[in-house]
Amino acid sequence: MSGYKEMSKEQLLHEKDMLEQKFKEVQDRNLKLDMSRGKPSAAQLNLSNGMMDVLNSTSDMVCESGVDCRNYGVMDGIPEARKLLADMSEVPEKNILIYGNSSLNVMFDTVARAMVMGVCGHTPWSKLDKPVKFLCPVPGYDRHFGITEFFGIEMINVPLLPTGPDMDMVEELVSSDPYIKGIWCVPKYSNPTGNSYSDETVLRFAHLKPAAPDFRIFWDNAYSIHHLYDDDQDVILELLSECEKAGNPDLVYKFISTSKVSFPGSGIAAMAASEANLADARRYMNYQTIGHDKLNQLRHVRFFKDMDGMHEHMKKHAAILRPKFEAVLSVLDKELGGLEIGSWSRPKGGYFISFDAMPGCAKAIVAKAKEAGVIMTKAGATYPYGKDPQDSNIRIAPSFPTPEELAAAAEVFVLSVKLVSIDKILE
Ligand code: PLP
Repeated sequence: MSGYKEMSKEQLLHEKDMLEQKFKEVQDRNLKLDMSRGKPSAAQLNLSNGMMDVLNSTSDMVCESGVDCRNYGVMDGIPEARKLLADMSEVPEKNILIYGNSSLNVMFDTVARAMVMGVCGHTPWSKLDKPVKFLCPVPGYDRHFGITEFFGIEMINVPLLPTGPDMDMVEELVSSDPYIKGIWCVPKYSNPTGNSYSDETVLRFAHLKPAAPDFRIFWDNAYSIHHLYDDDQDVILELLSECEKAGNPDLVYKFISTSKVSFPGSGIAAMAASEANLADARRYMNYQTIGHDKLNQLRHVRFFKDMDGMHEHMKKHAAILRPKFEAVLSVLDKELGGLEIGSWSRPKGGYFISFDAMPGCAKAIVAKAKEAGVIMTKAGATYPYGKDPQDSNIRIAPSFPTPEELAAAAEVFVLSVKLVSIDKILE
């Protein structure tokens, strides 16, 4: 099919009539579908149900160091969980600190600590004469932007390229402005594009020369082992060791969790960083808690055993997720390919497909899909302050609906894209 922009006004109006007819038909099906949040499906959650059997009333609940996990204590996490999460984060055990059930919570706490107490002895960010700033690669994760917005941190958009953030811009800004204190990064199978950072990008991060001594890279490796394919996986360089080699050991905070490995909201979260950064975090944590949930840590280690166990488990997730991604991509390819009214990512892992509509169309497309009962992530959510300057990006989350629901939802989505795009071209 030729591109919509090449069609005459009459051809477009004819196409619009036909699409409106189809749209009415899907509306009559009274669908109620949700492609908005990156939640695992029930089938994926079932994969981890065995975790509920590895600890019961007859289990030995003592960890490797002899501590009874039913009681208070062990601030850093039990040794076997430290080993598992250190391996998952690709760092030595001395560089890992186990937290509670959510990495987002650790990120929030880390920013809160910097605001109130400062980073490694530097002036607390909230006590500076001007608001601090964060760089935000876009499109990105709405909840990252939510944290920095909550604390009144000014956010600066940086384009996310297929290789990672625009590093010319990052280097220029970070080295010249001491009020820039951080950058949000999802380096692997990023939310929402699914892209992974190139080796050059990681090395340029490791060699940054920030104007602020308390600048930190917030490296959220939420999708580190979340591949869709066995034989075609992204591999990224490990940033903490690259920072050490570059003489910048304190530059990065790495965040990780088992949310989308075991149970979201009931997993284990951890931070990996230099010993100086971890000591700084511990000073705060000492007042925050008498220890995190060690029974959950024990359950996870007894269930997965080691990284081999985790990788095997992730293959089962992939077997459920892969057909869903492929179903959505095949509808996009078949229905929108060649029309030149949108482009989309083809992730090899993670939880999202990123769709870029013609400028000025994203909000209208999301609203149109809603008219036919399909909920998409709010347009603009992938940008700081919910403002996509181009009104173009839409995040598609294919994980939660069943394959049949997804086929119906994708059909509504492409109809919405076509109808809104025709109106835009005819404007
Ligand atoms: N980081 C990213 C990039 C995510 O996409 C998500 C969930 O969608 C999270 C963090 C949430 O992680 P957690 O469940 O560990 O808080």
